[in-house]
Amino acid sequence: MSWRDSAACRDLEGPNLAAFMLEVDAEAGETMRDYYRKLRIARYFCGPCPVQNECLAMAFESEGWGVSTTRYGVFGNMTPTERRKLAEKERANANP
Ligand code: SF4
Repeated sequence: MSWRDSAACRDLEGPNLAAFMLEVDAEAGETMRDYYRKLRIARYFCGPCPVQNECLAMAFESEGWGVSTTRYGVFGNMTPTERRKLAEKERANANP
């Protein structure tokens, strides 16, 4: 059994699953209000998810810890910006 089997988002489909990408489709009239609506959906599932740590580790494994790393979507209950800040903090702690 994989940790993914315990993921709170495991069976999501459609708009709820898409919300995790936090994409704002300006051409479709979406605004930052839609960004925050999507973020609330993602946090609703991520908040109580029992495999947040594993999910976050997977995100950093794939994104890396670099400065210029591209990051997309919510993983481990963290937005791309939150993961970037965590990576910066980890780098600063590793190189005081
Ligand atoms: S922490 Fe969030 S994105 Fe990761 S597995 Fe859990 S619900 Fe899914």
